[in-house]
Amino acid sequence: MKTQVAIIGGGPSGLLLSLLLQKAGIDSVVLERQTKEHVLGRIRAGVLEQGLVGLMRDVGVADRLDKEGILHDGTVLSYGEDRLRIDFREHTGTPVVVYGQTEVTRDLYDARDRLGMDTVFEVEDVTLHDLDSDAPSVSFTKGGDTVRIDCDFVAGCDGFHGVSRKSIPASVLREYERVYPFGWLGILSETPPIHEELIYANSDRGFALCSMRNPMLSRYYVQCSLSDKVEDWSDEAFWDELKRRIPSVDAANLVTGPSIEKSIAPLRSYVCEPMRWGRLFLCGDAAHIVPPTGAKGLNSAAADVHYLNEALRDHYLNGSDAGIDSYSARALARVWKVERFSWWMTSLLHRFPDQNDFDLKMQQAELAFLRESDAARSALATNYVGLPY
Ligand SMILES: Cc1cc2nc3c(=O)[nH]c(=O)nc-3n(C[C@H](O)[C@H](O)[C@H](O)COP(=O)(O)OP(=O)(O)OC[C@H]3O[C@@H](n4cnc5c(N)ncnc54)[C@H](O)[C@@H]3O)c2cc1C
Repeated sequence: MKTQVAIIGGGPSGLLLSLLLQKAGIDSVVLERQTKEHVLGRIRAGVLEQGLVGLMRDVGVADRLDKEGILHDGTVLSYGEDRLRIDFREHTGTPVVVYGQTEVTRDLYDARDRLGMDTVFEVEDVTLHDLDSDAPSVSFTKGGDTVRIDCDFVAGCDGFHGVSRKSIPASVLREYERVYPFGWLGILSETPPIHEELIYANSDRGFALCSMRNPMLSRYYVQCSLSDKVEDWSDEAFWDELKRRIPSVDAANLVTGPSIEKSIAPLRSYVCEPMRWGRLFLCGDAAHIVPPTGAKGLNSAAADVHYLNEALRDHYLNGSDAGIDSYSARALARVWKVERFSWWMTSLLHRFPDQNDFDLKMQQAELAFLRESDAARSALATNYVGLPY
């Protein structure tokens, strides 16, 4: 096989990139390790920045998003019984859009199907070759056959556990990481959301988040121990714990019901540098991970895709490699600011096992400052709605 850009990974980064390239007349092939059903079944992010919404519109896949996405003009932070609303529209003029990653991924696959773009699912043993030459290639096996794709470039959109990042020599790759000493236990339930906006709660029992996907689908999380197992948590135990972590005025509005999904995610901050090596570019979770506090994972993947699309368009349409040469630096400049914000939100809102009274006072002082300072609320809103590309 032959293509211009071989895209490893059929998650949101790879799919969005493929559609942007297609629009520019650049040919690509997407390789995905899982089945389509598996990819579409993953419950992940749910809050979209305008940058991602704009990219979805660019590739003509935003009809459902524009119809069903819920605009949020603000969010609530709480500490015990104290509530503080951050008004995004007042501070930035911009809302965020609540629309599930599952729906984003479905819309992207549907558009690719309409355009007759092929995804090769259930590929195994994906291996990247000659990335530091002018003639890279990708090989994989499928149904016992080995296939090779010759290409100009490889886009590593294969998430944190993919092969792309591991193809960069250890002597080149620098990794920066913080692993947090807790996880998030999340449930999805077909119940109306507790509140019209998200509630990020810091309580003496730990963090909780009240989120949603649509008017009849709620997503709730509680901070949990890394040793907890999903089976340890009955639905009743989850609802009881959630109620105890949020202000009583909100707890009174909680509608409970059976969970239709329940999972535990560990929290991690991670960045690798560089995000380009030879003819390989990393996008999204393949290059960086944020803890979900602040809803930045999917959104920062979209920013990388934007930079890479611009770089490849410049190469193919304008004969300039300036975008390719600056891709890693441009992407990382934004990534690090997003990492800072996600780390800060996580530090502000969680209870850490080794936290002492001084640390708790620091959290309280941060929240008091947010309450009193227009500039502090503005900084939070600016980061939450998304830094510009
Ligand atoms: C459990 C969980 C919960 C999350 N919750 C949130 C949230 O609430 N808010 C938020 O903002 N973000 C959240 N995130 C982060 C967000 O989902 C990711 O940032 C986003 O999915 C990144 O998209 P991506 O396309 O870069 O990577 P992925 O979505 O990981 O897609 C990578 C794709 O590559 C495929 N792949 C892997 N290896 C190979 C290979 N060798 N060959 C071919 N294909 C391969 C994978 O199967 C996958 O389909 C969550 C992530 C996880 C894991």
